Amino acid sequence: MHIEDIKSKYHYFFTESTTFFCGQGWASILDRLFDQITYYNTVTENRYRSDIRFNHMFLSCQQGNWELFDQYYYNWDTTAKNKMRELILLNGPRIVNPVCTPLVIDKIDEHAGSLTISYKGGNDVIHGMILLAVSMSRITCEKCGHPGTTRGQGWKYTSCDEHATEPNLKFFEDAEGKICATQ
Ligand SMILES: [Zn+2]
Repeated sequence: MHIEDIKSKYHYFFTESTTFFCGQGWASILDRLFDQITYYNTVTENRYRSDIRFNHMFLSCQQGNWELFDQYYYNWDTTAKNKMRELILLNGPRIVNPVCTPLVIDKIDEHAGSLTISYKGGNDVIHGMILLAVSMSRITCEKCGHPGTTRGQGWKYTSCDEHATEPNLKFFEDAEGKICATQ
């Protein structure tokens, strides 16, 4: 899985102005993230549609029209249906949870050795999934995707031991108060 594959596989989360600035090693984290969000959206949209359909049927039962009820429970036997007729009026309509606003990704970036994702829309559940992906990036090599750690003093990056070849910069003040960097 490459970043380019992410762009096409989950195109519905991106716009023409979405920017991608991160290493290939994090592509599998992004793949899992967008796969989970897609699954979550499908489940919540299906539940929303199902609840709306149920409540429509309920209202018509309440008004004494059982035609939609018969369609809804078409494969139930008479005994079960008679029991459900009583229950449906007793229990009332379902509580309908609204579907969250569509997720739009503005920018996928790297900052201080960590994945950063700027976006609009979504809800608290999706926000939680994004936080988990970000925390996964802090233990995943940005270059190859193997387990890694965040390294570096001034300039931070996350890599496995094999890809930890970049200079490990340290900043200090010299005698004249100038900021200098060393390895
Ligand atoms: Zn690596």
